[in-house]
Amino acid sequence: MASAVAHSDALDALHREIASCRRCGETGYPIQGQPILGTLDSLSRHNPPLGRVMLIGQAPGRQEAAGGQPFMGPAGRRLFAWLERIGIDERSFRRQVYMTAVTKCYPGPSAGGHGDRLPSAAERALCRPFLDRQVRLVNPRLVILVGRLAIETFLGQVRLADAVGRSFDRAERRWLPLPHPSGASTWLNQPRHQALLTQALELLRGSGLVAGTAAAPGSTERGGLT
Ligand code: SF4
Repeated sequence: MASAVAHSDALDALHREIASCRRCGETGYPIQGQPILGTLDSLSRHNPPLGRVMLIGQAPGRQEAAGGQPFMGPAGRRLFAWLERIGIDERSFRRQVYMTAVTKCYPGPSAGGHGDRLPSAAERALCRPFLDRQVRLVNPRLVILVGRLAIETFLGQVRLADAVGRSFDRAERRWLPLPHPSGASTWLNQPRHQALLTQALELLRGSGLVAGTAAAPGSTERGGLT
């Protein structure tokens, strides 16, 4: 318990550091709003959920910047609809899973006005030390990577179709890619990509690491954590 509390305190200290960060704005990048941080409730912090599962998206969007939590907008609704398919409700997931993003601040709208701007490589580099420290402190067994940016940050250049539906064991963790749930993405329009998403969700269910999921028969052989 002492170690969990120490980790929780260290995480709080890191959150305070991130909350006061203005590096991107000071370097001239047009970010908008404050850093957005995922939270775990106090019960989850001192119990097994801390250190089990982490979710990393790409960057907060406009709704997240306004509401102060990750995945609050349409992309979040789609993500949680996916999770509902394997029996995980949003409230339970938010309580158990530490959610963050490659960059913590809303990058602003894209130049074409369609969707949000992707954070540049330079912005990602500025924010990367925070992300690495979050991963070290949370020390998850399973990391869900949502969207190409998060996937490439940890798994390198890989086609979405070669990543989604599989899990990767690296650096003593299991990494599970999901496509980005943004409505701007057309990747899921293809039925074979929908099948890969279903496969990825079954891997998450098979991990048994998020309460509310029941391991599907045979799922351990397909990548469930034991
Ligand atoms: S995106 Fe990251 S590095 Fe940039 S200002 Fe926000 S917290 Fe700081």
